[in-house]
Amino acid sequence: MPARKRSKSSSSSTPAALADYRAKRNFKTSPEPGPRVARARKKKGLTFCVQKHLASHLHYDFRLEHEGVLLSWAVPKGPSLNPKDKRLAMQVEDHPLDYGEFEGVIPEGYGAGIVLLWDRGTWDPEGQSANVEQAMRKGELKFRLDGVKLKGSWVLVRTGGAGGDGRSWLLIKHRDEWAGDVD
Ligand code: MN
Repeated sequence: MPARKRSKSSSSSTPAALADYRAKRNFKTSPEPGPRVARARKKKGLTFCVQKHLASHLHYDFRLEHEGVLLSWAVPKGPSLNPKDKRLAMQVEDHPLDYGEFEGVIPEGYGAGIVLLWDRGTWDPEGQSANVEQAMRKGELKFRLDGVKLKGSWVLVRTGGAGGDGRSWLLIKHRDEWAGDVD
């Protein structure tokens, strides 16, 4: 007799890239997008978004499309156009690409609160960061944003060295024509 092919649990279909994302949420009660990795698409560019998240602590979620998911950081103070500001950005679990269009109320549990789209557009890795995997491992990702509010050249730099948890980064605006004093 052949072994049962179908697993009882639908969790077995969750892609490894989004296992953490799925584990933290109950999709029966949360309106957030399910843990689906998007297929590779041929189109203009990679998407990015910033979501204002009024949770227990207000923060801004900064997300960059990469390999069918959104690399994600929670930025407590939000991005600043002033190159002197180094904004703490805590890397969180990868999110599904669909999350980049999500706005709504998360009623209870993980991330409970209100999510608003604050900015969106496309992004491109810059220079040596063209190899995004390598740049992420190295802890320095340089990129350009073409959003409605955020534009120009930026960098995410991992902090804390060997003793750190590897999740703490700084989001910094490079000095260019899109920099300014606006916080
Ligand atoms: Mn958040």
